[in-house]
Amino acid sequence: MEVVLRNLTKKFPGRDRKKREDVIAVNDFNFVIPDGKLIGLLGPSGCGKSTTLNLISGLLKPTSGRIFFGGDDVTDLPPENRGIGLVFQNYALYPHLTVKQNILFPLQNLKGKDKLSKREMLEKANEAARLVQIEELMESKPAELSGGQQQRVAIARALVKMPMVLLLDEPLSNLDARLRLQTREEIRRIQRKTGITTIFVTHDQEEAMSISDMIVVMKDGIVQQIGKPQEVYDSPVNLFVARFLGTPPINLFEGRAKDNQLYIGEDAVLRVKGIADQEVFVGIRPEGFILQENGPLCCALGGVEVMGRDISVVSQNKASLSQSIRAIVGAEHLEKIGKTYAAGYGEKGPDGDRAM
Ligand code: ADP
Repeated sequence: MEVVLRNLTKKFPGRDRKKREDVIAVNDFNFVIPDGKLIGLLGPSGCGKSTTLNLISGLLKPTSGRIFFGGDDVTDLPPENRGIGLVFQNYALYPHLTVKQNILFPLQNLKGKDKLSKREMLEKANEAARLVQIEELMESKPAELSGGQQQRVAIARALVKMPMVLLLDEPLSNLDARLRLQTREEIRRIQRKTGITTIFVTHDQEEAMSISDMIVVMKDGIVQQIGKPQEVYDSPVNLFVARFLGTPPINLFEGRAKDNQLYIGEDAVLRVKGIADQEVFVGIRPEGFILQENGPLCCALGGVEVMGRDISVVSQNKASLSQSIRAIVGAEHLEKIGKTYAAGYGEKGPDGDRAM
């Protein structure tokens, strides 16, 4: 189901009543969420992600603008008539009900022609449980389950009516790092299998980048950039987006474009075409560096952090640069870093001595 937001705006009365200034939580959003895709709404806390989701779900009414599902205007429909499934950060399971009863719950309120027989309800509940792989937990109570299992139950409950649109609000935030990764892959698998258009809210850029077909980067209620994760990462439209995506963060230098060269300090670092001579920001992702003796930006290498097969290197400040550089290079370069490596890394140094 394609979801379209047109001129969507939500204002809340400001906290300071005297000033009477509204908070514009969602400011004139216009975008299309294509059918069957998983979209990440990404931005720092308070940028309007949950408000956007709540507008799409119908839990909130917009101040202005319209929402369309598959071409139909749903703006005035209540949540229960929109064909959506909702999953929140805190699972929101009924503690006194078993897993099976929790999953059955949304089916028990169906009325009129939608009403199901007991057998049909059970079939649907079992199917949803199979999808999220919790069949063996059907008779357990939520308190007996891990956070990851509880979140799967919440997802099964959201899926049991086979919604046209699945809305997930920070669904992984309460899980520890390992479960977060596992559940994230699980959500991706389920989304691919069902083909349900899914909107996933997160403040975690890595999470959004890894799970989404498309990300919407937001700040202060304003959409900054929409695109495939790699596109947004490689070609951010502004400094905010450049800084918000990527760990370790992008290296940003104040530089200059002159005679078709980009300069950082005195160093010409890149040949460019079609940029008029001017002051610019030069952004270099940590993985964009190669270690090269006497190359541009040449400087001593300082602290080292080992990250799996790669190492993250922080340069010592170079006189002509106002900042250090963080680069990620292959572990084969450890040799070049020698002593500094031994000093910065608490295990065995390259010469077999225990460091520090
Ligand atoms: P996010 O989900 O990105 O953290 P929210 O959508 O929750 O952001 O909030 C966006 C902005 O709207 C924030 O400034 C927040 O304080 C404000 N806001 C959200 N809900 C309400 C509300 N019910 N009343 C007043 N202000 C609100």
